[in-house]
Amino acid sequence: MLQPAPANLTIEAAYRDRTPGSARLAARARELFPSGVTHDGRYLQPYGIYVERAAGAHKWDVDGNRYIDYYGGHGALLLGHNHPEVAAAVQDALAHGTHFGASHVLELRWAEAIRRLMPAAERVRFTSSGTEATHMAVRLARAATGRRKILRFRTHFHGWHDHMTSGYASHFDGAPTSGVLTGIADQVVLLDPNDADALRQVLAHDHDIALAIVEPTGGSFGMTPLRPEFLATLRELTAAHGVLLAFDEVVTGFRVAPGGAQGRFAITPDMTTLAKVLAGGLPGGALVGRADVLEPLDFEATTARGLEKVQHPGTFNANPLSAAAGIAALEQIEATDPCARANAIAEKLRQGLNEVLEAEDVPWAAYGTFSGIHVFTNPERRGLRPGDFDPFAVPYRELKTRQGNITHRLRLAMLLHGVELTSWPGALVSAAHGEADVADTSEAFRESLRLLKREGDVGA
Ligand code: PMP
Repeated sequence: MLQPAPANLTIEAAYRDRTPGSARLAARARELFPSGVTHDGRYLQPYGIYVERAAGAHKWDVDGNRYIDYYGGHGALLLGHNHPEVAAAVQDALAHGTHFGASHVLELRWAEAIRRLMPAAERVRFTSSGTEATHMAVRLARAATGRRKILRFRTHFHGWHDHMTSGYASHFDGAPTSGVLTGIADQVVLLDPNDADALRQVLAHDHDIALAIVEPTGGSFGMTPLRPEFLATLRELTAAHGVLLAFDEVVTGFRVAPGGAQGRFAITPDMTTLAKVLAGGLPGGALVGRADVLEPLDFEATTARGLEKVQHPGTFNANPLSAAAGIAALEQIEATDPCARANAIAEKLRQGLNEVLEAEDVPWAAYGTFSGIHVFTNPERRGLRPGDFDPFAVPYRELKTRQGNITHRLRLAMLLHGVELTSWPGALVSAAHGEADVADTSEAFRESLRLLKREGDVGA
């Protein structure tokens, strides 16, 4: 169900024409929020849509326009919006109360569901977000090993706390980003992804590394892909050097496969960070892993060993509403394998987008693994055939280069045709997306590219 864009207007004028209600709310937002947004990824020029409701693979803005949604709640909604089982579980939990300030049975069922899908989760500690989970991974690793440094990979994202900011989108030399202390950035060792020699060198010479953390399918869910062989090498070398290994499965957990990337690649980390799909679309995260690695959180065990316990309060840890949503989502994943459905639809969409690029003679590419899609807008204008694009052959900096102008205008053009892409630009596909969405999205892409060509954003 495509909405044709008016032929006589520019992309921006047609978008403004279609979204007057969003424009009014965006003007109010500019008086309340820096840049008018509440998440960096939601920033769009001239303004983003304001959404009123969502169901399945779709959402509707305040002006009544329908969009095929590829944000998927920033990756939380593998099952799509308002999945009936998840919604019913949350409503039921709501009727019982939103916060007990006490232990409750849902937190047990939630942790048990995690462990059924991910057996390496011998112990679980719930947090409120993925950022908190990776923060906990750093602290636990230091407590468990007595070492100070953490090892990360350039372009890999692990949330926004102080140890994780350099080298993700900028500051690839490891220098601290705005607001972060040099002393903290100095404790982070940054390596190039897939560089086994550099990894070997660093681990052989630096004996102060407590933790290595990695996005197991590559930086930003495969925007800069990682070779599974490298993951295996990382596992071997960290174990050999007494460095704890954390898989950051905040995105991949319960999405790429029911057992996450660790299940899919049969590689077991010492710790795993989880969020997003884990909590079924409500706020929630967890640090899970080996029982001995989580032992520094244990009152009795630390006392018995004469150690100081690692502190971890957190008002919303294992919140009952998030637990209810998480249990319902994980049970669906266990019973129906929505991961495989989302992966299959994403593969069709990648093909559909690349066919359009080839037909329109635009040297971009749609790539990605599992249910993630990235649109490479080819900043260096390399010669390429979209369907044959090999991201391993392109340096990570180039894959990561976000051409602000083109990205914003592609997203606007797609919105105009009833599709919301993510800001990468790209897409997170859910199990609620179907063949009709793939066909409509491919057509929207074709029409958008034509508009971009007309306005000189794409082409010679
Ligand atoms: N790790 C990864 C791999 C992520 O993609 C994200 C969020 N996009 C985070 C950590 C941080 O999670 P949260 O936004 O819940 O803090």
